[in-house]
Amino acid sequence: MTSDAASRHCGDCTLCCKVMAIEALAKPANSWCSHCDPKRGCAIYQAHPGECRAFRCLWLVNELLDEQWKPAKAKFVLTTSDDGIEVRCDPGLPDAWRREPYHAEIREWAVSGEEHDVTVVVITTGGRIILVTRERDFDLGTVGPDERIVRELEGTRVINATVVKATEPDRK
Ligand code: SF4
Ligand code: SF4
Repeated sequence: MTSDAASRHCGDCTLCCKVMAIEALAKPANSWCSHCDPKRGCAIYQAHPGECRAFRCLWLVNELLDEQWKPAKAKFVLTTSDDGIEVRCDPGLPDAWRREPYHAEIREWAVSGEEHDVTVVVITTGGRIILVTRERDFDLGTVGPDERIVRELEGTRVINATVVKATEPDRK
């Protein structure tokens, strides 16, 4: 999407133009933007929406993530939310995150995240959510806009995860 980050550049990568939803264009997640030429980039670069201009994937801004994490190579886009880290899969290769070294490193983020109430989720085909934790990956299916993920904790360790209606109160 962008090419003017401080020290890194999108170069040949255009994956966010596929995996991200763009509200201003009514473009759903996981389908190519009609303005994207996967080889040449954005065809309306001078006039692309503000949300495209503002977007920076985590690889672009975090130099601790080396070249193998570049979305064009990894086949997923890393983003952040209020809750933590999101791994947004290319629907053409939805299991790319399970390959090494990715899976082990993503698990490490989940382990250290548990100490700080930071979650790591994989968003894959059809909006399916997988919560990665210290011991296992919880496949939670599709989480609707009126739903939320509830983690059951033992100390800081996640021992279960479920999806409930957003209006449902926490269990005591
Ligand atoms: S996914 Fe990241 S590196 Fe790739 S085009 Fe988008 S912002 Fe640039
Ligand atoms: S408008 Fe341009 S930058 Fe935005 S999603 Fe489409 S191709 Fe990508």
